[in-house]
Parts: sequence; C-alpha cells; structure tokens
Amino acid sequence: MKGCTMNKVAFFDTKPYDKIYFDKLKNQYGIEIEYFESKLSPRTAVMAKDAKAVIAFVNDDIGKETISVLKDNGVEIIALRCAGYNNVDLAAAKDIMPVVRVPEYSPHAIAEHALALLLTLVRKTHKAYIRTRDSNFSLNGFVGFDLHGKTLGVIGTGKIGMAFIEICRGIGMNVIAYDPYPSQGYLEYVPLEELFARSDVISLHCPLTSETYHIVNSYSLKMMKDKVFILNTSRGALIDTEALIEGIKSGKVGGAGLDVYEEESEFFYEDLSESILKDDTLSRLIMMPNVLITSHQAFLTHEALEKIAETTLGNLRSFFDGKPLENEIAVRKKIRI
Ligand code: NAD
Repeated sequence: MKGCTMNKVAFFDTKPYDKIYFDKLKNQYGIEIEYFESKLSPRTAVMAKDAKAVIAFVNDDIGKETISVLKDNGVEIIALRCAGYNNVDLAAAKDIMPVVRVPEYSPHAIAEHALALLLTLVRKTHKAYIRTRDSNFSLNGFVGFDLHGKTLGVIGTGKIGMAFIEICRGIGMNVIAYDPYPSQGYLEYVPLEELFARSDVISLHCPLTSETYHIVNSYSLKMMKDKVFILNTSRGALIDTEALIEGIKSGKVGGAGLDVYEEESEFFYEDLSESILKDDTLSRLIMMPNVLITSHQAFLTHEALEKIAETTLGNLRSFFDGKPLENEIAVRKKIRI
C-alpha cells in the first residue's frame, strides 16, 4: 500500500451522515480524506489541490471547467459516490481522468422510498399525522383508493425499476413497463404512449439522457389518464415541472411524489428554513396538497450508505494500486444535464 500523501482524497458536499460511513472504512482502504462542505464547482475545485482524487455527489458541478481546474491542481480521478452521472461532462473527462461511480448500492432503498411516497399520497398519512397531533380525529377529505388492481407503469426496468415492480406486484398492482432495452421476459413491455394511456401510477426509473429529458411534458401528460399519480425518484429533469404544475392544477394529475426536482442543486440537502425560498416553481409545488417532495433522500438508508462508502473507497484503492477500474463510466452518447 502506498503512503498517505499519495492516497489523499478531497470529499465535496459533505454531510454528517457521509462522514460516519467513510470514516469507519477509510483506514482499511489506506485513504486519507479531507472533507469539504462546499459543492464541487469550477470555483471550489481548487480546494482539491493536495489530493489525487475527489469524491463527489449528485449535485456537484463536474463540467468541463471543473475538470480542467481539478487537472491543473493534480487530481487524477473523480469518484462519484452515486449511481447517476448526468452532472459529469464525460466527453471533457475522457482524455483527462477516469470517472468511477457506485453502480449499485441498494436499489431497495430507492424503490421503498418510491413506495413510501405513493402510499403517503394515496392514503394522505402526511396530513393525518398533522391532524391527529392536533387532536383532530376527523376523516373528512381523507378518502383514498386501493392500489390493489390498479395499473402501474414503470419507465426503466433496471435495478431500481425492478425492485419497485416486485414490491408493487406484492400489493396486487398490474404492472406494465417501457424500456428501450427490455430485459425481463415475464414483464408486459408496451410502447411509451400505451404506458402513458393505461397507467394509474407512473414511476420513473430511467437515467437522465437526451432521450429521457422531460419525458413527462405537456404532450405526454395529455395522453395520461385523468388523476394519474406520478412518481419521480430518478432525476428531476425527467419532468417538465411547469407542465406538471399545469397538470396538477387542471386535475389531470391526481398526485405527484417527487424525490428529485430539476433545479434542486441550489436547494436540496440544505437547511433553508430561515430564508425565503427563491424558486417560485418549487414554492408552488410545495404548497400543493397532492404533491409530496422529499429532498433527494431515497438513497438514505444505513445499508445504502455503507455500500456507497465501501464501493467508492474500493474504486479509489483499485486506482491507487493500478488495478482495473470495474466501475469506470464508459463515455457514451452526450448526456444532457
Ligand atoms: P439501471 O442502469 O439499473 O437501470 C436504468 C434502466 O433505464 C435500464 O434498464 C435502461 O435500459 C433504462 N433506460 C435507458 N434509457 C431509457 C429510456 N430512454 N427510456 C426508458 N428506460 C430507459 O439504473 P438504476 O440503478 O435502476 O437507477 C435508475 C436511476 O435512478 C439512475 O439513473 C439515477 O438517476 C436514479 N437514482 C436515484 C436515487 C435517489 O436517491 N433518488 C438513487 C440512485 C439512483
């Protein structure tokens, strides 16, 4: 194992729960970590000047400029502690430094959070919790519906999509799916338009690419059933938020459970409770009674955090030891941020 200086890593967008899991394992992997609360950006990249690697997360800006500053400061590898990589300019990184990620940590964590959003919205338990704390035991306005027998449309049947499908089959939902690369023989795959037309609940589990950007928009919303429920635990820009708001106002959308938001990077993960929220779209969404927003927390379980730390440190150890990088992201078609 090489010396500590060689293995120094700069960790961006640090939260207390990240430190717990990385600190537990870092010595085992021979890696010294300097934690920064700031997000990685062209302005903050210089903070990595003593490190050979950076560990970054979903809302860090890993565009061309950041990559160039990292390189000028001696950084040799970018390790994402997440699965999605739409915030990285892979074309810019291609000939400069490898980018590794955690392709799988706990698909169940995200799938179970999607279920939590759905059940909460359908049975209005978020409102019941507040009412009963105020000794208001009235049930008025709380009529929900059975999910059993309803049709779930899943877009993207990878690890998380399949975990969510298995849960929802367990509660008796009929499942249809769309994926350009169908992989599950027993599933009913349908064209996207048919999925929009037949689903009572639509859940997004595809990556954000130029093909999936704003896959839920005013045009696709028109194809959907009245009172459709939409879940997004993938990436915010899969939904055209203005179109969604119009859909909610018109009654086309019966409920929306959103763990991600297209402009989230400025807000999510921060305590802004003492300030005025400077995003009118987000403010409007939050105020809507049939919208439930969580702050990109679907991944946040002990199991997932442990696996994220283990895989990220393992990726870096392989790099420092000159071993093959099994979790390196191959440069593919241009990804829209
Ligand atoms: P995965 O790679 O296992 O599955 C993605 C699936 O999407 C694949 O089956 C792929 O064929 C499909 N796909 C690709 N292009 C598509 C298209 N145009 N239309 C429909 N489907 C398409 O990925 P995963 O581990 O299941 O993760 C899915 C997404 O979840 C990630 O891209 C990430 O953005 C998001 N995610 C969110 C959180 C969170 O905390 N909210 C955590 C992890 C991952």
